[in-house]
Amino acid sequence: MDENKVLWNKCVEFHGHSCGGLTIGYKAALYAIELLDLKLGGGGNAGCLSADEEIVCISENDACGVDAIQVLLGCSIGKGNLLFHMRGKQAFTFFNRKTGKSVRLLLKPKPEGMTREESFAYYQSTEPKEMFDVTDRKLPLPEKARLFDSYVCECCGEVTGANWIRLAGGKKLCLDCCETYDRFNV
Ligand SMILES: [Zn+2]
Ligand SMILES: [Zn+2]
Repeated sequence: MDENKVLWNKCVEFHGHSCGGLTIGYKAALYAIELLDLKLGGGGNAGCLSADEEIVCISENDACGVDAIQVLLGCSIGKGNLLFHMRGKQAFTFFNRKTGKSVRLLLKPKPEGMTREESFAYYQSTEPKEMFDVTDRKLPLPEKARLFDSYVCECCGEVTGANWIRLAGGKKLCLDCCETYDRFNV
């Protein structure tokens, strides 16, 4: 099996099925690897990005394709290098923290009137550079995840970070309690 087939199978295994949407993310990730001069196969992790490459992805949708980006580029929510700017667009911005390079890939419209199966076959057989328009990034490189001081909500008693505390009626409230408080005041 060639290397790309191995990579594709990894994506399908993670995502749970193969589909056109997964193919879009898969091709976007391969294109990002090429455009940002990333290297695959480091650290015995064949086919996936080597651990010292620091790639950040901002996805403009939360559809199937994001799963392929997680698998191929090692972007994840927990690591803080997978972020969402929800616009419902098939667009992805990739940053290489090491080099400062970035690129935004926007899916081109596919030929009209295709069935699900036809569009899957179309995306599978189309080269990434034919599939995406490369546009300048619109968003800045996100800062690294910050740590916030913790506070106890004076309503529910649960602990949350400073960024999620609101002052309402002289009390420090978590966002859930703050919303409840607002509702009772209308
Ligand atoms: Zn899918
Ligand atoms: Zn609370």
